[in-house]
Amino acid sequence: MTSSAGAQRAQYLEALGIEQWRPRRALGGGRSATADALTRADRAAPMAAPSTAATEEWDRLAAEVRACVQCGLHASRTQTVFGVGNRAAELLVVGEAPGADEDRQGEPFVGRAGQLLNAMLRAMRLPRETVFIANVLKCRPPGNRDPGPEEVRCCLPFLHRQIGLLRPRLMLAVGRIAAQNLLATETPIGKLRGGVHRFGPQAVPLMVTYHPAYLLRSPGEKRKAWSDLRAVRAQLAQLRAAPGPGAGGAATA
Ligand code: URA
Repeated sequence: MTSSAGAQRAQYLEALGIEQWRPRRALGGGRSATADALTRADRAAPMAAPSTAATEEWDRLAAEVRACVQCGLHASRTQTVFGVGNRAAELLVVGEAPGADEDRQGEPFVGRAGQLLNAMLRAMRLPRETVFIANVLKCRPPGNRDPGPEEVRCCLPFLHRQIGLLRPRLMLAVGRIAAQNLLATETPIGKLRGGVHRFGPQAVPLMVTYHPAYLLRSPGEKRKAWSDLRAVRAQLAQLRAAPGPGAGGAATA
């Protein structure tokens, strides 16, 4: 890492509210294997422009989501929240459901939690515009209650179709509710963090970290989240080096 990149990283960690320690090796000028892996992870693969057919399919899917009345949430929503970002993204970030700000603006993670998510993504050197961000649910549950099982059952097929188009190398579930619903488990988030799980028929690698809203309430946990984000970057680097079946990182349809 150059000294200006190091200074930038320090700024990001400060923005996350994470106290910084200097590894002893760095003081001696040596490079660790982890540092080398992370530097490789920073070299994002070139992103292919989606074809016309893929663009049409995305538009069709977005229109279906907009018109969806499969569960009761359609009655109370202001609008659906389809998802946003780079349609050739390598990383798909998945939250729980839109909140009040997202319901008003039609975009995921635009409130206070969204600001922290943006800082987390920048700290990973994967700024918001380079990833794709979606939720398990496309509509806001009234009062921000947890998604109901029937709502998840109705809505998840949309996420599966988004994944089919996006073909991300890696998914990052943010928060317990997203992780447990995606992985169909009741395992606590503390046990889901740190591993690489698989999602859906395409068996997309999936990692888990804390929800930014939780980190705003429990800033003491930000250091653990930062360790998750470093693991995500390292995993992306590994997947780029040895992509699994179906994980293209860029839509080619
Ligand atoms: N929390 C989520 O899980 N998703 C959003 O889009 C906003 C807040």
